[in-house]
Amino acid sequence: NLSDKLDKAFHILKGHGKITEVNVADTLKEVRRALLDADVNFKIAKDFTTRVKEKAIGEDVLTTLQPGQLMVKIVKDELTELMGGDVAGVNLSGNPSVILMSGLQGSGKTTFSGKLANFLQTKKNKKPLLVACDIYRPAAINQLHVVGEQIGVEVYSEPENKNPVEIALNAIKHAKANGFNVVIVDTAGRLAVDEEMMTEIANVHKAIQPQETLFVVDSMTGQDAVNTAKAFNDRLNFDGVILTKLDGDTRGGAAISIKSVVDKPIKFIGTGEKMEAIDVFYPSRMADRILGMGDVVSLVERAQEQYDEEEARKLQKKIAKNEFGFDDFLTQIQQVKKMGNMKDLVGMIPGAGKALKDVEIEDDAFKHIEAIIHSMTPDERKKPAILDAKRKARVAKGSGTNIQQVNQLLKQFDQMSKMMKMMQGAGGKNLMRMMGG
Ligand code: GDP
Ligand code: MG
Repeated sequence: NLSDKLDKAFHILKGHGKITEVNVADTLKEVRRALLDADVNFKIAKDFTTRVKEKAIGEDVLTTLQPGQLMVKIVKDELTELMGGDVAGVNLSGNPSVILMSGLQGSGKTTFSGKLANFLQTKKNKKPLLVACDIYRPAAINQLHVVGEQIGVEVYSEPENKNPVEIALNAIKHAKANGFNVVIVDTAGRLAVDEEMMTEIANVHKAIQPQETLFVVDSMTGQDAVNTAKAFNDRLNFDGVILTKLDGDTRGGAAISIKSVVDKPIKFIGTGEKMEAIDVFYPSRMADRILGMGDVVSLVERAQEQYDEEEARKLQKKIAKNEFGFDDFLTQIQQVKKMGNMKDLVGMIPGAGKALKDVEIEDDAFKHIEAIIHSMTPDERKKPAILDAKRKARVAKGSGTNIQQVNQLLKQFDQMSKMMKMMQGAGGKNLMRMMGG
């Protein structure tokens, strides 16, 4: 799988302290190949690897965080971003909220209609009504009734009526009269995109003005899924994508391509035939899946833990010898800063990671601290005690801060040094916490 391929590719990177154009080329080739294997469109895969390259080159790599692992992280973050970054919900603001299903025949519309109704009923406390607008096959209406019975949701149908617009409008009336607050309209699909189907669903769409139009696509159809998505989006300007049949070992590269081409969020995934087989779409989990390595995150975490230990050991020595100064502190800050943005970074600071992971931290939280330390002479960094009023004023001026800020840092540093000495064994841990986050 892709994980093995990346492992192999990353082998080339091992032993290098920095990611460079040369040592990254083979890796990126592998990444691109793996994306193509997962059915990602060629141009998208190419653009993707270009972006990853730009991010990766020049990144310093800490001793214990192998370049390969850093690459995995960059690739994963970029993939997540590409698939939408955040989780997108469905709009349930209408009364009733009308949800229209679109997609080809066999994509999983009817099944997903049932899953969504079940999800909204059990998890969101809604009272959904299912509507059978597939007028071509009596079996389709039956299928929805079977689904409805399974989950205990009423199904509205008019077996004799051949006009889906009428059926849908009547269903909404029925919903309003009977206290249903969500109406899920299941429609007919064709085996391929054709004008008649598009006109029909466009007419339904126009008549019922749904809060939410969802495009359902079989993730196993790979590249075709992209063309279908585009055709439906051109006509319906849908609000979100449902990726079905992501059970088994379907890679789901379609998720990346679709998001790139139509720029609409993927909202849910279907992971089986049962009514419970529905999941909210999490871009980062999908990134793991596409990379075929659920262990990426733990890999990176392990590297961070190793980093923790090594740093903590070094610090302990210094503390024991009374040698911990502002230079060491600065090194700490700078080392962790290389590894990513502030949020990631805090997770990597010795000991502080778990405690502070969920705390909101601004990216320039270290800016003043760094500026102040930079404005100190080497002697002052080693022996902060020599900082008298005159020196402090100079440091404040040089760092663009004020005396209070300098004093605050000195005070925190002093407390921290004392604490660290006291803790000895646990030395160096919780640096950030003592710095006040
Ligand atoms: P429709 O024509 O778009 O309404 O598609 P259906 O809902 O009838 O689904 C077509 C087939 O795909 C059925 O056999 C479903 O059981 C199956 N199906 C739908 N969603 C999933 C899914 O997430 N996983 C699996 N394995 N099968 C699914
Ligand atoms: Mg159907």
